Amino acid sequence: MVGQVQTKLGNVSYSMTFEEKDEMETMHRMAVLGNPPQYCHACQNNQYFALDSNKDKEGNTYINVVCKKCGAKAKLGKYKAGGYFWHKFEVYQRPGEQTTQAEPSQDIPAPGDDDLPF
Ligand SMILES: [Zn+2]
Repeated sequence: MVGQVQTKLGNVSYSMTFEEKDEMETMHRMAVLGNPPQYCHACQNNQYFALDSNKDKEGNTYINVVCKKCGAKAKLGKYKAGGYFWHKFEVYQRPGEQTTQAEPSQDIPAPGDDDLPF
């Protein structure tokens, strides 16, 4: 069975055609790939998304839907048994770029002996 998927992310329309031997497998692919997540729980964005992909050093390919508002990514995951699913949006932080902890508020000096009562 040949499957065709058309989906729109942001201003870009994607159309995919693929062929699977198994009919259910084709339906599954169409359902998952045709319905990328379009709501970012991190910033409540439901309008601005883009499709993105990258490869790591091992040659694994990653497909992500990127929230253009806050940069969170929802990764396309693969089941071991075959088939796909979308991860939840995750705010990505590069190693070494962790948001630094807010500066602790200045220590309130302990009342000294010369503190006068009000
Ligand atoms: Zn977001």
